[in-house]
Amino acid sequence: MTEYDVIVIGAGAAGLMCAAQAGQRGRRVLVVDHAKKPGRKILISGGGRCNFTNYDVTANNFLCENPHFVKSALAQYTQWDFIGLVATYGVAYHERDHGQLFCDDSAKDIVNLLLAECDQPTISQRYRCEVHDIEQEDTGFRLKLNGDPVRCQSLVVATGGLSMPKLGATPFGYQLAEQFGLKVLPTVPPWYRIRCTKKTKPASPIFPGCRYRVRSLPNLACVLARTCSLPIAAYQGRRYCKPPRSGNRVKRSLSIYSPVSR
Ligand SMILES: Cc1cc2nc3c(=O)[nH]c(=O)nc-3n(C[C@H](O)[C@H](O)[C@H](O)COP(=O)(O)OP(=O)(O)OC[C@H]3O[C@@H](n4cnc5c(N)ncnc54)[C@H](O)[C@@H]3O)c2cc1C
Repeated sequence: MTEYDVIVIGAGAAGLMCAAQAGQRGRRVLVVDHAKKPGRKILISGGGRCNFTNYDVTANNFLCENPHFVKSALAQYTQWDFIGLVATYGVAYHERDHGQLFCDDSAKDIVNLLLAECDQPTISQRYRCEVHDIEQEDTGFRLKLNGDPVRCQSLVVATGGLSMPKLGATPFGYQLAEQFGLKVLPTVPPWYRIRCTKKTKPASPIFPGCRYRVRSLPNLACVLARTCSLPIAAYQGRRYCKPPRSGNRVKRSLSIYSPVSR
C-alpha cells in the first residue's frame, strides 16, 4: 500500500497552498482532485483576473462562528505574505476600489504561481481521481483513490464550498465532516445570480434561483438594498462594475454579489 505523510483532497486555492507549505516542511504530499485540472474556480474569480487579496485584511472582514480562528490564521499568514509571493513570481497586479488587488493579465497567473509552489520533489498530484472509503486508523488515515488503497498520517480536506458544481464543487467536505461526527452548519450562498429579462420593475423580494425584472442597475441596487439590507456590488459578464451608476442598462444577465447575512 502506498504511504504519504499528507494527502490533500482538492486542488483549489486552499489545497494547493496547503500542499506547497507541507512540501516546504519536507513532508511527502499527494494532492488529489476528481477534476481534470487544478484551480478551476480561481480561473473564473475576479471576472478572470482574480481579486487575490486586499491591502486591508482584518478578522472583521470574515464571517466565522469562531473569530479567534480567523485572528490566529491571519497572524500566521498575512496579506503582505501573499503580496510578497506574487511579487516574487513577477505577477503584475493593480489596486481597485477599497484596496482590492487584481492581476493585470489573468487569474491564470495565480494558478501558475500555486502550481510552481507545488513543483517540489516531495509533492505529487493526481487528477480525475475519485476518493472513497476514508477511515481513521491509530496513526492516520486509510482511503481509496480510484479504488487503490493508500495511507497517510495527515488528511487535508480542501474540497471547497458548494458554488459552481460545473467546476467540480461537491458536498464532499460536509459529508465527510458528518461522517466523523462534526457539526455542520447550514450552508448559505454567498452570492445570488439574478437573470434580468425585461426593463420592468421587480415587485417581489430577492430569492436565489428566481427571475427578477429590473429597469436598470440603479433600479436593481435599490431593490436589493430594500429587500436584503445589504451593500451590493454588481458583476455583469466578465466586467466587475462599481456601485451602479444611473443610465447603466441591464442587457443580458447580471450576477449580484452580497455578503452573507446570518
Ligand atoms: C464567480 C466567482 C468569482 C469569485 N471571485 C473571487 C475573487 O475575485 N477573489 C476571491 O478571493 N475569491 C473569489 N471567489 C471565491 C473563490 O473562488 C473561492 O473562495 C476559492 O476558490 C475557494 O477555494 P477552495 O480551494 O477552498 O475551493 P475550490 O476552489 O472550490 O477547490 C476545491 C477543489 O476540490 C475539488 N473537489 C471537490 N469535491 C471533490 C471530491 N469529492 N473529490 C475530489 N476532489 C474534489 C474540486 O474539483 C476543486 O478543485 C469567487 C468565486 C466565484 C464562484
